[in-house]
Amino acid sequence: MFYNFVRTPAIVKTGMGILGKIDELLHTSHLHFPQKVLITQKHLYDIYRESLLRNEFCDIIFVEGGNTEEAAGIISQIKENDGLLIAFGGGSVLDLVKYCADKADKPYINIPSALSNDAVYSCVARLTRNGKKYSFGVQPPIGLIVDFDVVRHSPATLLYAGVADLVSNLSALQDWKLAHKNIHESINEIAYMLSKQSVIPLFRYKESDLLTEDFLFDLTNGLITSGLSMIICGSTRVTSGAEHLISHAIDEYFHNRSSIHGLQVGWAHEIINRKYRTGANDDYDITEYFNRMGVLKVIHNNLDWEESEFDSLIPYAKKIRNRYTIFNTIMEK
Ligand SMILES: [Zn+2]
Repeated sequence: MFYNFVRTPAIVKTGMGILGKIDELLHTSHLHFPQKVLITQKHLYDIYRESLLRNEFCDIIFVEGGNTEEAAGIISQIKENDGLLIAFGGGSVLDLVKYCADKADKPYINIPSALSNDAVYSCVARLTRNGKKYSFGVQPPIGLIVDFDVVRHSPATLLYAGVADLVSNLSALQDWKLAHKNIHESINEIAYMLSKQSVIPLFRYKESDLLTEDFLFDLTNGLITSGLSMIICGSTRVTSGAEHLISHAIDEYFHNRSSIHGLQVGWAHEIINRKYRTGANDDYDITEYFNRMGVLKVIHNNLDWEESEFDSLIPYAKKIRNRYTIFNTIMEK
C-alpha cells in the first residue's frame, strides 16, 4: 500500500438548537443503531431534558466524570446494549465515555456542553486514578455534534480555556521543529500542517466575537482538525509541547494549586514565547492575541501562579514525559 489510511469522523454537525435533533442528524448521515445510550451528568440532563428527550434512548446513565473509579460500573452497563453511546457533557464526561467505550469496544459520539479543550475530538482521555491524572490512549469518537446554544450557556471561562488550549498547538509545533533540528526527531508534515491550520482561523477574532456563530464554528472545526492531526501523528507530539508539560506538572505535583487545563497551558505558552523562544511571536504575537481575546485577563483571574515561579516548575515539567522541548535547551545553557 502506498497510502496511509485515516479514520475521519462519520458525522460532524454544528449549529444552533440541534440537541433535540440527534436522531434526525444520525439518520441523515446514514448512521443507524438499534439502540442508543445517553451518558451525561444529572444537572446537565435537568437543564436540557426537554431537548434531549426529543430523541430516543434505551438507557440514560448519569455519571460524575473525570475519574476511572466509576468506569467499571459503566462498562458493565453499556456491554448489555448493542448500540451507540452518546456522551453529553464537559471534558470530564467525554473523557470518561471515551475510556469506557474503548474498554467495551463500543462506538460513541461526543456532544460537548462546552468547548474548553481539545478533548472533544481526540484519541486521548485524561482521567484521575487514585487522585492523580493520567493520559489513556483511546479510540476517537465516530462523530461530533455541537449545539452552539448549549456551548454559549457554558461558563465563559471554559471558552477562553478552549481558545488557549487550541492556540497552544503553535507552541507544540515549535518544540517539534526544535526536536527535529537538534535531535533529528522526524516530523509528520501532514500532521504538522493540520495542527497549524486548526489554529490560524482564530487569529482574525477579538473578545467580543467569542459567542458569535462564526467564531464557535471556527473553534469547533479547529478542535476537530487538531484531533485529526493527533490521530495522523499517532501521538500528542503535534499538539502538546513544553506548555503542556507545565500544565501536567501543576496537575501532578501541585494538585491543590491546579486550575482549568486550557488556562494553565495558555499561561505557560505566553511566558515561554515571551521569555524563551526567539522569534516565536514573529508570525503570530501570542501576547497581543491573548490580550485581544481577553484570555490573559481570565488566566490571571483564575490561576494561582506568579510568573516569578515559572522557572521553578521547569524541572517538574521535564519529569512528566520524555519529550524534547525548549526546556532541554534552557538546561543546556
Ligand atoms: Zn491540551
